[in-house]
Amino acid sequence: SAIQNKISAGEVVERPSSVVKELLENSIDANATEIEVFIEESGMKKIRIVDDGDGIHHTDGPLLFQRHATSKISSDYDLFQIRSLGFRGEALASIGAVAKVSVETKHHSGDPVFIRFEGGELMRQSPGKERQGTDITITDLFFNTPARLKYIRSLKTESGKIIDVVQKMAMAHPKVSFRLVLDDQQRLMTKGNGNLKETMSDIYGLNVARNAVEIQAQDADFRIHGFVVRPEINRSNRNYMNISVNQRHIKNFALSQSIVKGFHTLLPKDKYPIAVIDIEMDPKLVDVNVHPAKIEVKFSKERELNHLLENAVLESMRKEVL
Ligand code: ADP
Ligand code: MG
Repeated sequence: SAIQNKISAGEVVERPSSVVKELLENSIDANATEIEVFIEESGMKKIRIVDDGDGIHHTDGPLLFQRHATSKISSDYDLFQIRSLGFRGEALASIGAVAKVSVETKHHSGDPVFIRFEGGELMRQSPGKERQGTDITITDLFFNTPARLKYIRSLKTESGKIIDVVQKMAMAHPKVSFRLVLDDQQRLMTKGNGNLKETMSDIYGLNVARNAVEIQAQDADFRIHGFVVRPEINRSNRNYMNISVNQRHIKNFALSQSIVKGFHTLLPKDKYPIAVIDIEMDPKLVDVNVHPAKIEVKFSKERELNHLLENAVLESMRKEVL
């Protein structure tokens, strides 16, 4: 129902940056190789995402904003097997309930279609442009909820969070080119050529990338690959440690602590390294369903993984110092 949609919307899309995150995940899941993000007034006025992905078949259009109509899972067990970023069929329904949404999309086997939703209601469906991919625009976010006022008061904070979301998504997907434009200013552009070090350079600058040291480790369960940056240019903030699991950006205190420990005595007090690390594993070893935003995860072989990561960083640092 419309009321239920509005209630659960708060869990999935609590702020403009979480809307951006959900939309980016959809573009990635649709195999996009180029994603452009246009933001006006920190997303409160407009969020537009243009991708060159698979598109949506015109017959699926009207279902997009119905909760769980598109859910890819049928049981709890499936959650552990999930490879795609989205799986609950909840994001668009939630966004549709609290904003005005226009989608222009074309699937290779369908007709180009334009769809407009307002407050969860289908307002219009008409032929769209002949262009492969999806172009989605969210306007007047939270127009029908009290949350709106809260975010209008903190537009600057919210822009920072949006930049953060796009950066982290770009680092977890070096094969995808991302462009972010905030109020007509380009804030980010990654080449998407698959080279993680170049992606790091696109995001943190050439100087950081030049000092990046490669991290590599593997055992029967995990494969770790990425880069860490030596102490001179470290930040006093944990947020520069980017960790992804099967290309899904995650937050995990123990893992970021393992990176820090790997630096051993090389790290000045209260400083944190820059790190971009992806860990590949059987999805069975990770539970991503701890929180609706899918960012907190639990590992079933946590000790082993922490150890592997800490040692990988330690090894590379030792080689660097020698
Ligand atoms: P979920 O991602 O959990 O399946 P969403 O509500 O985020 O649920 O999206 C619903 C569905 O809409 C997706 O499963 C996908 O089929 C389709 N979709 C959404 N965005 C895009 C996109 N950019 N390109 C192609 N398909 C999309
Ligand atoms: Mg999704």
